[in-house]
Formats: sequence, structure tokens, C-alpha cells
Amino acid sequence: MKAIVVKPGEKDSIHLRDMPDPQLRPNQVAVKMLRVGLCGTDGEINQGLYGQAPPNSEFLILGHENFGVVEEVGKKVKGFRAGDFVVATVRRPCGKCWNCTHGENDVCTSGEYTERGIKGQHGYMAQYYVEDPRFLNKISKPAAEIGVLLEPMSVVQKGIDHSFRLQARLAWKPRTAVILGAGPIGLLAAAVTRLRGLRTVVVGREPAGDHRAQIAQKMKCEYFSVENIPLTDMPKHIGPIDLAIEATGSSTVVFAAMQILAPNGVLCLLSVTGGYKTQPVPTDQINQKLVLGNNVVFGSVNANPRHFQMGVKDFVTLQKKYPGVLRQLITDRLPWAEHKKWFTERGVGIKSTLEIS
Ligand code: BGC
Repeated sequence: MKAIVVKPGEKDSIHLRDMPDPQLRPNQVAVKMLRVGLCGTDGEINQGLYGQAPPNSEFLILGHENFGVVEEVGKKVKGFRAGDFVVATVRRPCGKCWNCTHGENDVCTSGEYTERGIKGQHGYMAQYYVEDPRFLNKISKPAAEIGVLLEPMSVVQKGIDHSFRLQARLAWKPRTAVILGAGPIGLLAAAVTRLRGLRTVVVGREPAGDHRAQIAQKMKCEYFSVENIPLTDMPKHIGPIDLAIEATGSSTVVFAAMQILAPNGVLCLLSVTGGYKTQPVPTDQINQKLVLGNNVVFGSVNANPRHFQMGVKDFVTLQKKYPGVLRQLITDRLPWAEHKKWFTERGVGIKSTLEIS
């Protein structure tokens, strides 16, 4: 079959090539890929900064934001049929640590987990893949058009779920959420905080009136541009910030965000910032504010299968509540043979996909 691969550690090694067809075992499902989403992690892997090929392979099939259709079902598998739309989870358990052996592989402690398309296992930029049904999520027809957004949605679901779980330590009645960054993760986070009943303010780099701002407003969010208001001044303009979700990809924003929380406020960090930036920050002030405010700052990566399920459920609700809005996050659909385009010039779009079939 054809697949898009990289040589991990080598800059700009991405190319389309023939790879062996995956072999279906009786306890697996064979999936035909329809499209993959492209994200910053794919870019970093192609820059040689991140990523690991499977053992005994020179290449890694790239791609983790997947959407496909069941082609064939192994004899021992129940509950799946040819024609079902599916999205596979990314991370696979290490099989050693307590968390992984109890279904919590997103919080693996050994570090020996694998991630399809990222670390030690082939991904989804291929015509086919086979998988254990435990790692597959069915997507209903109404959500199929946004199914490729389920993997980033699962990351968002985990961050918000964990924010609420952390605050179960006290009586917490959040009213306002601020979402930092109007990319796919930021706008999906805004959709979810709206569903959880929070007033939601999206803060982005883009000017008011930009298509990202318009999408936020269609979901009844407010939009502010950092062109007009510095982030640290936000509380003066919008009042107490109970929950902040950082999804800008900039570590500078992270430290500014630590200064905007209300008492008992939570800051959830979702950006995986590759690189080695260092810069002075007002550490005394930040620390004092966090301590006196009983604030929580926490990082969150990947997602548990239950967060994929929460995402599937919210997609159906969001498609009814804001019809056609999440579809607008997918701004660029590239034929997969033209994959190099995205890796060299990203443009101003929100989410790009590679259309495989
Ligand atoms: C993916 C996560 C993954 C993380 C770190 C992100 O881009 O969405 O599933 O855990 O990268 O590898």
C-alpha cells in the first residue's frame, strides 16, 4: 500500500512510498483511511525534532489525527461492521506500569508507551491500518463530517475533564473560561466550555473580524485580540477568570496566563512547545499570585479512551446546537499526494487535512 513516511531524526524526510500491507488477524479490524488531520506535532517530526520509528523499521508512517471506514472485521471481533466510520486512539499502553494496566495509558509512568504516527508505531497516513477494536471509536453519521477532529477533541476533553476533577478538592462554581489561542484546539475547547455552561472568552492573535473570531462568536463566545489588549490586562476587561486553557503553542503566553487567574482559578496547559526558548519572567509576582489565589496550573497531554467517547457524544450535541460550525474548522483539504505543501507553507487556515480516499 501507499503511505506517507518520515525518517525520524532527519529534517524534511517526508515522502510517499510503498509500504507492506498490514495483515488482518482474527481479533482485529481492518480500516480504510479516508482522511488525516495535520498538526504541529507532525511538523516537528518532519523537522527531525521528535518521533520514533517502530522497532526494525527505518521509516515511520506519519499521522495521528485519523478518520476511516471499516473495511473488514476479523472472525473473533464483535460489535463492528464493514462501513462503520471509526477513529482510533493514538497511545498504546506500555503493559508495565499500574496506570497502563488499568486502562489509563494517557498517564503512563514508565514512558514506554507507544503512539501511532508519533512514537514507536506506524500512524495513519496510509491506505489501510489494522487495529484491536479496544482502540477504535465508532462515529455516528451526523458527526462523520467532523470525525477527523475527534483526536484533537479528545485532548481538549481530557484537559477540561481534569480541570473539573482537580477542583473537586473544593467548592468550585466556575463562571468564566478563557481560551488562549484560536487554533483547532482552542476553538474545540471553546465549544466544550460552552456546552459545560461557561461564559467563554477566546483570546487570539488574529484581529476581531477574522474567520477564527467569527467561528467563536457563532458558538456564543466573546473574542478578544491581543493586538488590542495585553493578556495580563484581560481580568480588567472581562472580570474574574475561573478557568484558562492555554493552546497557543507559545511558552511566553503560558507564564503570562499564570498572572490572570481569579482566586481558585485553574490554568490547563495543552501546548507541547518544542524548542529551547529562555526569557526573564516576574517569578516572585507569579508565585505570590498563585499561592494567595489557591490556583492550580497543570499540564495535560494525550487522552484516555473515555475522553474519545466524551468527544463523540459532544460532537453530536454540538452539531445540533451550532449546525455546520465545527465543520468550518477544516479550512484546507489537500489531496494526500500534495502533502509537502503543508509542511513547507502553512498558510492562514485553521485545520488542514490530507484526503486519502
Ligand atoms: C497528540 C497527542 C500526543 C502528543 C505527544 C499530540 O500532538 O495529539 O495524542 O500524546 O502529541 O506526542
